[in-house]
Amino acid sequence: MNRRATFGRILIAAGFLVPLAVLALWARMALPGGGDPRYVLRVVLPDGSQQIGLPAVQGPGDASRPLVVIDAGHGGHDPGASGQGGEKEKAVTLALALSLRDALLKDGQVRVALTRDTDRFLVLEERSGIARRLHADLFVSIHADAAENADAGGATVYTLSDRGSDAVADQVASRENRADTVNGVMLGGQSNAVSSILVDLSRREMRARSQAFGALILREGEGKLRFHPDPQRQAAFVVLKSLDLPSVLVEAGYISNPADSRAMHDSDWRGKFADALASAIRITLARQDAAPLAP
Ligand code: ZN
Repeated sequence: MNRRATFGRILIAAGFLVPLAVLALWARMALPGGGDPRYVLRVVLPDGSQQIGLPAVQGPGDASRPLVVIDAGHGGHDPGASGQGGEKEKAVTLALALSLRDALLKDGQVRVALTRDTDRFLVLEERSGIARRLHADLFVSIHADAAENADAGGATVYTLSDRGSDAVADQVASRENRADTVNGVMLGGQSNAVSSILVDLSRREMRARSQAFGALILREGEGKLRFHPDPQRQAAFVVLKSLDLPSVLVEAGYISNPADSRAMHDSDWRGKFADALASAIRITLARQDAAPLAP
């Protein structure tokens, strides 16, 4: 049978099947009790309990070099916040993460891994899980903020705290933590092992180191980046919770603010952002090297 005839048959079959499918859908909607259970739609969601493959480690082959894990927030079915022109946070975070990776790889001293380098979804625990399993030395999660007030703008650096430093910090954390829910169903869920890390005494030191790292981002970005008037805050971010390594979440700017959004979509600005973060990262790694953590 030639291809044309096969194609014709497919078209004829489709001509019958499409109206049938529409009829079945109509029956399901119209009949009381939901109609025939054969037409139940199932969506398979990641349950967060299976380990995903580890991303490639980029940079020098020497495994003794420090490793930074960069996490581009959101992705896949989770677009994150939206700009006034429909810009998506998930695309901005990926572009910023790639700029930061390039800035870090420039001098060949630091190894880098990205939790994602494509538009894909990861539950929050998978993101921190990648950093833990790779024995990373630093973790940076990159996001873009949003507010109803279009004037709200500037970058904010967040570190982990059980209680937010203020109500706005709590709101940002609860918005970012929502990434793990689909129609209100939790995809992640903390294991006991993670909880025991949280009560570890080293937690206090780790949080202090994370805050020092955050302060360095502000210092290195001064005069180059625009920061929020209250630029360093703490809140209960799930993506930072299970980490026993210095970690920050950077809201690079407000995607809801047209000027911030334009900046984040500009590769020159992203280069400046990446350079500021990269120098804060290098200083932090040098300090850690000088004062290694107790095993
Ligand atoms: Zn976000």
